[in-house]
Amino acid sequence: HLDTRVPSGGRDELGQLSDSFNRMAAALEASEQAQRRLVASVAHELRTPLSNLLGYLEALQDGLVPPSRELFASLHDEAELQRRILDDLQDLTLAEAGHLTYRRCDFDLADLVDTARVAHLAVAEAAGVRLTAETAGPLPVHADHDRLRQVLGNLIGNAIRYTDRGGHVALRAFPDADHITVEVRDTGCGIAPADLPFVFQRFWRADPARDRATGGSGLGLTIARQIVRDHTGDLTVESALGEGSTFRFTLPTTN
Ligand code: ADP
Repeated sequence: HLDTRVPSGGRDELGQLSDSFNRMAAALEASEQAQRRLVASVAHELRTPLSNLLGYLEALQDGLVPPSRELFASLHDEAELQRRILDDLQDLTLAEAGHLTYRRCDFDLADLVDTARVAHLAVAEAAGVRLTAETAGPLPVHADHDRLRQVLGNLIGNAIRYTDRGGHVALRAFPDADHITVEVRDTGCGIAPADLPFVFQRFWRADPARDRATGGSGLGLTIARQIVRDHTGDLTVESALGEGSTFRFTLPTTN
């Protein structure tokens, strides 16, 4: 470990210069540490699907398992998960550096919510979850349509994924004083109070083994919040363990 610090000086110019140098050195060290942590988590995240993939391939090669439709589906799932992790990571890196490009246009957020519901009906039905939407349109926004569809898709996908059969996912979009609120409420497993502060952290999962098995990258919420914040809104969560969660985001309205 290289100590880059210089002796801190007194109140003269040289002293101030060495203090500001030390602050910069500390900031640089913190960002290098963050980068090392990120690389370590990415390596860790990719290792599981990659090991599974290699395991399947070796078993196939050694004739331990016969080639079957199910086996190829598993191979495909593991490769797909790796691709999703890499795609999400690219989005996240761009977003955090402020380099995600947004193509904003004027549209009705109520339409987007209704369309998102229709797009997720098949998945909800397969999971035995009722999916409803209640929108008080028109809700005019000036925003990136595709990116907001991505945010909503992530929240709805999670809500369905973490809700048992027979449960309900309710979408709501309504205007407030100077902004619009979109709510994704589920009657699912909920999130423990101690876990709540972490849900937006990259690669965080309440239950790594189970949540990974559901095919998530652990990056969805981190990216979703960044996108909403880049639109000068915010994404928050309320949850009660065993009762369900409500993810809510706000956006400024255009009128
Ligand atoms: P993932 O792709 O793993 O779902 P996310 O960033 O979207 O990653 O979510 C991070 C974690 O937050 C999930 O793994 C899960 O533990 C928890 N989580 C997200 N949404 C919900 C929800 N609606 N109900 C319960 N837990 C949730």
